[in-house]
Amino acid sequence: MNIPPKPSGESPDISLYERRESQVRSYSRAMPREFTSARGSWMFDSKGGRYLDFLSGCSSLNYGHNHPELKAALLDYVESDGITHGLDLHTEAKTEFLNALEEVILKPRGLDYRAMFTGPTGTNAVEAAIKLARKVTGRELVIAFTNGFHGMTLGALACTGNAGKRGGAGVPLNHVSHEPYDGYYGPDVDTAELLEQRLSDPSSGLDAPAAILVETVQGEGGLNAASPEWLRKIAAIAKEHGALLIIDDIQAGCGRTGGFFSFEGMGFTPDIVTMAKSLSGMGLPFALTLFRPEYDVWAPGEHNGTFRGNNHAFVTASATLRYFWSDANFIADIKRRGDLLARRLEAIAERHGLSTRGRGMMRGIDVGSGEIAAVITSAAFDRGLIIETSGAHDEIVKVLAPLTTTDDQLEQGLTILAECTCEAFASPALCVAAE
Ligand SMILES: *Cc1c(COP(=O)(O)O)cnc(C)c1O
Repeated sequence: MNIPPKPSGESPDISLYERRESQVRSYSRAMPREFTSARGSWMFDSKGGRYLDFLSGCSSLNYGHNHPELKAALLDYVESDGITHGLDLHTEAKTEFLNALEEVILKPRGLDYRAMFTGPTGTNAVEAAIKLARKVTGRELVIAFTNGFHGMTLGALACTGNAGKRGGAGVPLNHVSHEPYDGYYGPDVDTAELLEQRLSDPSSGLDAPAAILVETVQGEGGLNAASPEWLRKIAAIAKEHGALLIIDDIQAGCGRTGGFFSFEGMGFTPDIVTMAKSLSGMGLPFALTLFRPEYDVWAPGEHNGTFRGNNHAFVTASATLRYFWSDANFIADIKRRGDLLARRLEAIAERHGLSTRGRGMMRGIDVGSGEIAAVITSAAFDRGLIIETSGAHDEIVKVLAPLTTTDDQLEQGLTILAECTCEAFASPALCVAAE
């Protein structure tokens, strides 16, 4: 059954939030509702409203809300008094996760990584990655890229490009050089060659780096997708100059761009990979830094944290690996649905002379300005579609629907997006004609 979204018209009283919650809150401003429950691609509010979720916790809910397989695994575990908090002790839940990681993900892909359980958020995984690279190489500088987003704690924030986020630091954000990402100067400038030139020139002023930290598709930075050729060159440059290649797969991984890792099949192997967001599959906090065994130079406890390895997340993460990632149909279906999404977004973009961005199920439309994007996403919310923006000026309307969204739900959401885009460009007649 194809039920339509049903937004609740009235805005609830938010005076409690205005009085008690810090004004740092952000998403809730554009969606002032009190959400009560969620299932699959749907979120429900306390006034009977029903919303299609094309934000998915910024890609933390790739398998939708409360997937029955994941929920059942967690309920069983809690019911049997499974360990909830175990510091970094060996637990049955951790054993099962490491076994599943080895059998379902690493071995079939020919990857040999050690797993480090960091604190539970993405930024913790990035901090661990850059700390390790500095420790391994004895160097300070990290090369990150324009429009990169890597988290909000000081080390990761230093690697983040966005001035608004950096401005909150209150101290200098240093030991990072932001180099131009693929396509930054347009299609005719190979920015990997520029980097190679700067690193090879003893008078360029660029120090030898500890690491090159890069997203294959920039999630927060505007869905810029680097080409496999560019990424291969970056990998070769890292190797040549003795730097570790860190792929930040926190948003682009876990199937968002197709494979479990966003770099699969591209012909290079990162030295370090960071994962978080959809790793637990149910929105439970859980992060992981993977690295080649030869770089495992940590002293015991040298990098630490009270909440390393969330056992509930081990359970649900193992379930994602056994249930989704052992199923070739699931993997083929992400690819098919990503192609469908690409075609539909291109059709909307073409109608208004706009362009699309992204890869797999991580795509959006560049609508030219943050103001227009806000008009579109706000109108979409009023029709029951939760969708957000990305990019230096928030000018990209991004679709991060769950990978498990049905074709019908995808169609429903994209029809709303098409209508709202038409209205924003004040050309409803043109749009009716094209439907
Ligand atoms: C979200 C994100 C992070 C930070 O993750 P948090 O859990 O918010 O700390 C880091 N890198 C990328 C690519 C992200 O998308």
